[in-house]
Amino acid sequence: MRFSPKPLEPLPQMPYNHPVDTSRRMRSLPSVDRLLSHPTVQQVQGILPRQVLVDSIRATLDDLRIAIKSGTDPKTNLDHIALTALARAKACVAPSLGPAVNATGIVLHTGLGRAVLSSEARAAVASVAEGHSTLEIDPETGHRGSRQSHIEDILCKLTGAEAAMAVNNNAAAVFLAINSLAAGMDVIISRGQLVEIGGQFRVPDIIKRAGCRLVEVGTTNRTRIDDYSDALTGDSALILRVHPSNFRVVGFTEEASIEEMVELAHGARLPVIDDLGSGALIDLSRFGLTDEPMVQTSVSAGCDIVTFSGDKLLGGPQAGILVGSRESIDRCRTNPLARAVRIDKLSLAALEATLKLYLDPEGAIEKIPVLRCIARPVDDIEKVANHVASQIQKLVGRGTSVEVIDSQSEVGGGSLPGQQLLSKSIALKSEHFSSEYLSNRFRQFNKPIFGRIEAGRLLFDLRTVEPEETDEIVDCARSVFQDFAH
Ligand SMILES: *Cc1c(COP(=O)(O)O)cnc(C)c1O
Repeated sequence: MRFSPKPLEPLPQMPYNHPVDTSRRMRSLPSVDRLLSHPTVQQVQGILPRQVLVDSIRATLDDLRIAIKSGTDPKTNLDHIALTALARAKACVAPSLGPAVNATGIVLHTGLGRAVLSSEARAAVASVAEGHSTLEIDPETGHRGSRQSHIEDILCKLTGAEAAMAVNNNAAAVFLAINSLAAGMDVIISRGQLVEIGGQFRVPDIIKRAGCRLVEVGTTNRTRIDDYSDALTGDSALILRVHPSNFRVVGFTEEASIEEMVELAHGARLPVIDDLGSGALIDLSRFGLTDEPMVQTSVSAGCDIVTFSGDKLLGGPQAGILVGSRESIDRCRTNPLARAVRIDKLSLAALEATLKLYLDPEGAIEKIPVLRCIARPVDDIEKVANHVASQIQKLVGRGTSVEVIDSQSEVGGGSLPGQQLLSKSIALKSEHFSSEYLSNRFRQFNKPIFGRIEAGRLLFDLRTVEPEETDEIVDCARSVFQDFAH
């Protein structure tokens, strides 16, 4: 037997355009009150808000009227309408944002919420979410303070910077930094760094929106320090470097080093802003990942402000971090825009807890899920993959193959483009379903499971799946293949 993906809606019936029939069918639709007192709906009275039930019943009846008018023949028996309305009401109160299983092999998957928080960061969020907190009051003095005080010292300690602050995300950090140091003036940047990071964040647009003029120097593939010095004028306010995190230029390329840029800018009494994007605090080359600049390097090169994300390689909450000189950071803090992009208390709690884990770098690699995922040895992934594959094998019956194959994971989130981590995936291929249909079924599960399709097979890359989540994949396979199991 061969199954193709089933259409989700019932097939349209033969149209019948009999006006008398149509109005008779319209009249035969039950009233809202009658549906409200139907036993199916009565069961949830007091559980679902009454207004939600009423609205869902109305919407269901509206849909039926439209269907009848258009000449299709929808099911109009009372029980069926009540069930449809109830399903609609339940969908309305169910959470839309919920947990998911990331079996894509992409460690920082923007669609799946980027960095997974460490248990330390989750606990910090929960404790602050429980009630009031010391967000902006120092318990020792009882005086009003700054929310930045919770993360400034630790950021300085970890990066070597003089001052630090955090905002809502890195896009906001870059915007705030440029606006604070260069509003109304020129920002000099290499043509090779006029990048789009994604989601509307394009460096040239950000510079303009920050109230600055963009001065491009060099070429797409080569920019030398002389290109920058030739561009300096009385209107120059700063030199900006943006790490082109999501693509690579290979071949005949050259960019001025950050040290050269700082020397030139400081000689002209101008600041340098370095937007690193990912912001690694730990050297990842030991995991085979090269070319990811570290925050400490830019700080010690003398950059006035270095910006990076909280939820990329740092492995914390969504946040934008600025570290640098006292003077430059103070200009950002006192900018009225700082209030518009300020970090909220839950993210701040998670950020502080994440940063504190870096006081013990080896511990950080074990405790921060992003780093743990990157560091995970392939043998370990293979063991889990073999175990899960053998469980699934028992459930699928004939006609479906379950294999453990080599695959390539990547860091994602605009970090380390083109660099891959060897991994292991479970590959499913079935005679009963297309891979697209299978993938869809796994996504419809109560905790949706996201894999990827490659060469006609559905792959679950286990590098990014937490060990306690493998049961979800097995449970879902059980329900998808129940008709074929022996
Ligand atoms: C990702 C990234 C940003 C944007 O950071 P968000 O935290 O997503 O706002 C900005 N610049 C660079 C270089 C990036 O890689």
